[in-house]
Amino acid sequence: MIKQVISILADLVAFDTTSKYSNLELIEYVQQYLNKHGIESELVPNEEGTKANLYATIGDATVPGIVLSGHTDVVPVTGQPWTSDPFSLLEKQGKLYGRGTCDMKGFIAVCLAMTSTFIEAKLPVPIHFAFSYDEEIGCIGVRDLITELDRRPIKPLGCIVGEPTSMRCIGAHKGLVHSRCTIKGCPGHSSAPDKGVNAIFQATKLVSMLQEIGEDIKQNGPFDARFEPPYTTVHVGTISGGAVLNIIPQHCDFEFEFRNIPSHDVSPYVEELQQYAKNTLLPPMRAVADDTDITWHIDSEHALNTPDTDTFSLWVRQVLGKVEPTGAVSYGTEAGLFSHINIPTIVCGPGSIDQAHRPDEFVELSQLQHCIDFMHDFIATIDSKDWLKV
Ligand SMILES: [Zn+2]
Repeated sequence: MIKQVISILADLVAFDTTSKYSNLELIEYVQQYLNKHGIESELVPNEEGTKANLYATIGDATVPGIVLSGHTDVVPVTGQPWTSDPFSLLEKQGKLYGRGTCDMKGFIAVCLAMTSTFIEAKLPVPIHFAFSYDEEIGCIGVRDLITELDRRPIKPLGCIVGEPTSMRCIGAHKGLVHSRCTIKGCPGHSSAPDKGVNAIFQATKLVSMLQEIGEDIKQNGPFDARFEPPYTTVHVGTISGGAVLNIIPQHCDFEFEFRNIPSHDVSPYVEELQQYAKNTLLPPMRAVADDTDITWHIDSEHALNTPDTDTFSLWVRQVLGKVEPTGAVSYGTEAGLFSHINIPTIVCGPGSIDQAHRPDEFVELSQLQHCIDFMHDFIATIDSKDWLKV
């Protein structure tokens, strides 16, 4: 089995599916692979038709099944000092190197290699493969697929998102609200600042406010000890504005994010920022020039918070042979979105997050083997008909 996984992984890595490119060649490859096994798959494409999610069912589609979910896109290699070709799989000393080996084509390769085993097992519940695009740029692609699943009368029993967790069971992750704020000021000669509106000055007031909010949360909580750090974090990642020193800058924009613990609704902070911009910053800006403005583009990803008492979570941990509490991580995944439509979801996959997004990204062969063993135990457990009776 491991040889087959390596061979599929080599094929998957060879497709440069950096989020800015199309993933269709890879999707076509998966579709053909499944076709050869007599499995049909449906595609949920993006509006432009340049990318697609793939959803396939092995077994009886009229009963609720288990979703094995992974994203097909990878982060860029630009500027990273790779010592081998990132899009050509390299096996060395028990490790497989290549972009996406760990995050997360390794998991997809294991799923695909298991196809005939899943078919032959004639499981009482179907297995669904859900392979998405654009996860790395804000879990964008899978949303249409999830909307589609939510619409259907039969919902999956549970979902495993195979992000690299070193095969640990993760039941919770933080949510994410990310935003770009754009300030339109009014240009003029820097010798007469009162005749224009300095967009950078306005932006820094909002940035300072974000910093204060972050400090306040750090001091006063709320706290959730499962996370590191155990509170919602606030971060400004980019800021740009102005052209030359002697012109009042007409433009400034900055991007910021809140990474919230599951119980913490951060929308009041965003509201507070917007109200401050509208009621305090904008009136004096408009008094100088009518067309000055402050605009926001806000997007969010749901936190994951599957309770340890959840039957599906207990079952997965039992299959893994360790009914210990699930872990929590501070990075986001598509799991929060599946969970949001009431599909019990856990994150568990081969490889370590420490290797994800890095130059010379790798997954250990032993991790892939661990994942294969997990899938076999998983089949054996479902087959025993006692499954989910934990
Ligand atoms: Zn990932």
